[in-house]
Amino acid sequence: MIPLKLEPDRLFSPEPGQRALARALYATVKDLPIVSPHGHTDPQWFADDAPFTDASALFITPDHYVFRMLHSQGVRLEDLGIARRDGGSVERDARKIWRIFAGHHALFRGTPTRIWLDHAFHEVFGIRERLTAESADRLFDHINGCLARPEFRPRALFERFNIEVIATTESPLDPLAHHAKIRASGWKGRVVTAYRPDPVVDPEFDGFAANVAKLGELTNEPTATWRGYLAAHRRRRAFFKTMGATSTDHGHPTALTCDLSEGECEALFAKALRGGAGPAEAETFRGQMLTEMAQMSLEDGLVMQIHPGSFRNHNPQILRLFGRDKGADIPTRTDYVRALKALLDRFGNERGLTVILFTLDETVYARELAPLAGHYPVLKLGPPWWFHDSPEGMLRFREQATETAGFYNTVGFNDDTRAFLSIPARHDVARRIDCRFLARLVAEHRIAEDEAYELAPELAHDLAKKAYRL
Ligand SMILES: [Zn+2]
Repeated sequence: MIPLKLEPDRLFSPEPGQRALARALYATVKDLPIVSPHGHTDPQWFADDAPFTDASALFITPDHYVFRMLHSQGVRLEDLGIARRDGGSVERDARKIWRIFAGHHALFRGTPTRIWLDHAFHEVFGIRERLTAESADRLFDHINGCLARPEFRPRALFERFNIEVIATTESPLDPLAHHAKIRASGWKGRVVTAYRPDPVVDPEFDGFAANVAKLGELTNEPTATWRGYLAAHRRRRAFFKTMGATSTDHGHPTALTCDLSEGECEALFAKALRGGAGPAEAETFRGQMLTEMAQMSLEDGLVMQIHPGSFRNHNPQILRLFGRDKGADIPTRTDYVRALKALLDRFGNERGLTVILFTLDETVYARELAPLAGHYPVLKLGPPWWFHDSPEGMLRFREQATETAGFYNTVGFNDDTRAFLSIPARHDVARRIDCRFLARLVAEHRIAEDEAYELAPELAHDLAKKAYRL
């Protein structure tokens, strides 16, 4: 048996002075409640509070970080129990799936996934041995034994993780029945939704015209017309607000924004509904909708998040066989300075609107994002996202963005995850790295120690609550 240990000074600088200060700063924030303003957990977990079924269903099948790595090394997704779109046969034996995962555990050396897994094993399940092919069955049985107990149900874990509030992400077509059930249940856990309109604002989304028609049915607005379509968004956003939403989220291929005349919008919308919009027109329509969403946010107060720059479904075979969100999304080079111009020309100086920018293109931190956020009142910078939600990624973000944007044009941490058990681990990494960065600024006499002690809880907790109006 190989022991599993979590070193108390992990992720801090190896330099003794900075390490000591980082440790002291971290001690003041490590137990703060978790504010999770953007993510993809399933609200049904908290609505039904049913036990998680088994270790594989918890750690492997919902986590694209895990199975994309296994896929890259030749493991078939079918053998990991990932459902096929055609209903074709996939592995159903959770123990076999777990054994494959355990046998490939070395693949995660040096990755944040390894840090999150070790943290969950150690802190949530009390495991004290490393996952290997040899220990696979013991850990599988131990985790499953835990999951059968009431204290490992979703609501109990939510409380144990000290989650103050968590946001899920839903399409405007979602009836939000799970959110309604949570609210009606009397449970005090705070789970809110967020408005993610990609299926009804992207002409290239599967079933776009049908989705827009369904939006019309849900809202009693004539969504075949441009005005009716905008009115339907306003109604649906208002409904989302009744289910706690304080934000919208936009997962576009680029950050392009447009500002067309009403006549041009009407014509483009009609063409998109007919299925006649080519790639450039679809892009223009999405860009126009970001500007429209900013206008609506100014009216209803929902904070706007833009998550651009992911080339979705890069692998057509995986898309055909398994569908979206299967680890085949790849970052692209992303422009902000020109792309956001139309939106900023209209709304850049608004005090009552917040637009939070994310990127998968680290080259823009210092060149574009920090200068933009360091000028326009409407803009804030989201934390390192997805491939950059990692110790090195967080350090690169602070190092490149802080000198121009400061700390107060950033919004704390987002775990942005569908892997529930990784939430405390991800927030812990962010808190440690921020304390490490602050300790370095103090060591270099760029800020004083009292300022670092003030910043640490702001970065860990307060800025996220404030920016997202939670
Ligand atoms: Zn997200």
